[in-house]
Amino acid sequence: MTATDFHPLADSVQPVFDTVRTRSPHEPEFQQAVHEVLHSIGPVLERHPEYAAAGIAQRIVEPERQIMFRVPWVDDAGTLQVNRGYRIQFSSVLGPYKGGLRFHPSVNLSIIKFLGFEQIFKNALTGQGIGGAKGGSDFDPHGRSDAEVMRFCQSFMSELWRHLGEHTDVPAGDIGVGGREIGYLFGTYRKITNRHESGMFTGKGTGWGGAEVRTEATGYGAVFFAQEMLAVKGDSFEGKRVGISGSGNVAIYAIQKATQLGATAVTASDSSGYVVDDAGIDLDLLRQIKEVERGRIVEYAKRRPGARFVEGGSVWEVPVDIAVPSATQNELNLADAQALIANGVRAVSEGANMPCVPEAVEAFQSAGVLFAPGKAANAGGVATSALEMSQNASRQRWAFADSERKLREIMGDIHRASFDAAERYGVPGDYVAGANIAGFERVAAAMLAQGVI
Ligand code: GLU
Repeated sequence: MTATDFHPLADSVQPVFDTVRTRSPHEPEFQQAVHEVLHSIGPVLERHPEYAAAGIAQRIVEPERQIMFRVPWVDDAGTLQVNRGYRIQFSSVLGPYKGGLRFHPSVNLSIIKFLGFEQIFKNALTGQGIGGAKGGSDFDPHGRSDAEVMRFCQSFMSELWRHLGEHTDVPAGDIGVGGREIGYLFGTYRKITNRHESGMFTGKGTGWGGAEVRTEATGYGAVFFAQEMLAVKGDSFEGKRVGISGSGNVAIYAIQKATQLGATAVTASDSSGYVVDDAGIDLDLLRQIKEVERGRIVEYAKRRPGARFVEGGSVWEVPVDIAVPSATQNELNLADAQALIANGVRAVSEGANMPCVPEAVEAFQSAGVLFAPGKAANAGGVATSALEMSQNASRQRWAFADSERKLREIMGDIHRASFDAAERYGVPGDYVAGANIAGFERVAAAMLAQGVI
C-alpha cells in the first residue's frame, strides 16, 4: 500500500490524517491503522463538537511517549549482535499502558506504532481499565538457542525495566514472545528492581502468577466473536469448515475452540507455506511441532497421513465456510478475499492484528460476509491479561473454567458494543465502524474528563 491509496476522509478528520502523514511519512502500517479509525470516527466528531473542540483526534494519534533503545548481546559463537528495542506508550487515559512485545525481524517503528494505536481501542473495548501500548524488537528468536534468547531478553529488559511497572506499563507476549521469553524478561525485571511484582507482566507461567486461559485466550476469543456474529444470523460453527492461517499461539487455540464447537479446522500455515488436512488438524501433532520442537509446518504433512503441504501459495485458496486469519498484518490481500468469497465464505474473524488489507475488508463487506476486525475479535488475549492483573492484585487464582466463562462473557460484551455502535451510527452490521466507534467513545470521554494533557 502506498500513501496515494488512501481515500479522502471527512472534513472533520482529514487534517488530522494529513498531519500524521507529514509527521510520519515512512510509516505505512501506522498510516493505514490511523486512516481506518479516522474514517470510522468522522461521524462521531460531527455528533460531538466537544470532542472536536478538545482536539481528541489530534491528540489520540500522537503517542504519549516513544522509547527506542539499543539492545546489544553476544551470540553463542561469541559474536556481538545489536538489535533495536521499542516501547510505544500510546495512551494511559483508561489505565496503565498495556500491550504485547513482538520479537520479529519485520519489526520497525511503523509496525509498533500501528500495533500500539490499535491497542488503545482494543483495550477500551474490553472495558477492563487498560491503556494502549506496544513494543518489541527486530530480534529473530527462530533458530536461536535458549541461551541466546535469554541473553537477548536480559539485555532488552536491562533498559526497558525503568519504563515499566504494575501501575505504569504492563507488557505481555505477541509474535516471537511466548512463555520462554516472558520468563527471562520477568526474571531480569525482578533482579534489577528487587521486587517480585507479579502485575508488571502478563502471560506469566501459571506456577508463578500467570492466569489460566491466558495462553488460549486470543484464539478462543476470535472464535467466540465469530460465534456471536453467526448467532445473529441464526448460524453456528457446527459442521463448518474453518480456515486458519498461522501456527502460533493464536492459530493453535482458534483451531482447538473451533473443533470443540463442532467445526473442522482444515488449515495452518507459516512463512514457508501451508498445510491442508481435510480430516481436521491434529492439534497434538501441531502443538508438538510448533510448541515443543519449534519446527516448520511442513513437518506436519510429513507425519500426518492424508495431509498435504503447499509450498508458498496462499492458504486462502482452500475452500472454507469461516476464516480466522491468525498470522500477521496484511497477510490476506484482495485476491485472497475474492477467492474466499467465490468459495462461499460466510464469516471472517481476525485473530491477528490487521491481517486483512483494506481492499479485502471492503470486498468482504460488500459481498455480505460477516467481518470482525482484529481490535474486537482478538481482544480476548488482552482482556484475559487484565484478568491476570486482577488476580495478581488480589492474590487470587481462578480455575480454568471460571476464566473461560469470563472470557466468553467479555467477547459477548465486545460484540454487543460493536454491533450497537454500528446501529447507532446508521451502518448496521459494519463491525469495523462499530468497534472503532465503541472503543473511541470510551477513550474520548475519559480524555475530555481528564483535560488537555
Ligand atoms: N499482543 C496481544 C495483543 O495484540 C496481547 C497483549 C496483552 O495481553 O497485553 O493484543
